[in-house]
Amino acid sequence: MKRRRNKHSAVVLLVWGLNAAGIFALLLIFMIYWLKQPALAASQAGPSSTAYPASTSIPTRYNLPTVTPNPRSTEIVVKSPTPFVLANLKPGVIGYSISGRPIEVYSFGQGEKRRMIVAGIHGGYEWNTIALADQLMAYINQHPETIPPDVTLYVLRDLNPDGDARDHGVDGRVNDHGVDLNRNFPVNWTATWDRDGCFDLAPTTSGTGPGSEPETRLLMNFLALHKIEALISYHSAALGIFPGGTPWDESSVRLAKAIAKVSDYPYPPIETGCVYNGTLADYAVSRGAAAVDLELSDHEHTDFRVNLKVLNVLLNFQK
Ligand SMILES: [Zn+2]
Repeated sequence: MKRRRNKHSAVVLLVWGLNAAGIFALLLIFMIYWLKQPALAASQAGPSSTAYPASTSIPTRYNLPTVTPNPRSTEIVVKSPTPFVLANLKPGVIGYSISGRPIEVYSFGQGEKRRMIVAGIHGGYEWNTIALADQLMAYINQHPETIPPDVTLYVLRDLNPDGDARDHGVDGRVNDHGVDLNRNFPVNWTATWDRDGCFDLAPTTSGTGPGSEPETRLLMNFLALHKIEALISYHSAALGIFPGGTPWDESSVRLAKAIAKVSDYPYPPIETGCVYNGTLADYAVSRGAAAVDLELSDHEHTDFRVNLKVLNVLLNFQK
């Protein structure tokens, strides 16, 4: 009996020993597998995962899909077609044109009285107004004392950058929806107009409704947020100085006369029989500003020296 018991306990010990060895072996296999995991993953994924694929170029264009291709559309970019760069001046971007170009406003001075210049509303057709705005800003940057202490001047150099990018000729007048922005403001807006005496060298519309265009609405928002006392909307060419308002607003007439005094720009302006509806100047008057449309002498020159005097009139105008 004693020997049998010993024999039995030896078998039990052997079984338990084998069990323990088996469990130990299993644990060892698991541990080795666990420790080798990252190395396995790396060797399976290949060399591309260890070095993040370097981008060869930063994307600068975004061509969005469209179901209704726009024959007037211009390549979508994220910069101005005619950049204005001064190292110490940074514009505020108030929004983007239809094709994604920034609408930039530069600000000079810190005064309470706010004045504004808007150029390029007719895009590339009147590119010289944009060039003039840039010249005036470069001058002010060199001569900051030009701005009286109680004045802030805002310069929106290019309200229609898509038109500016499309063509420096008649085809550059409208925005990318084919709209004449100076007929899109929500004052006396009309869907059609008599083209006799008006610009008729290329197809234009006044938009699908008052303020239908993003460029128009951006400037409307800006004027709602900034109480502007006096505004010049630059155009070309040759017809003179048009006060805003219907009938002409009294303070805008005073501004027009003050500008005529320091320049050769005709006032009263040359009447061609054209009726202007939905203009920026009319809208600015409705927002409480004295405002004029001012036409440069031609489509090539900026009349810089004359417009320095005009700038002085704008900055010192008392509404
Ligand atoms: Zn114009």
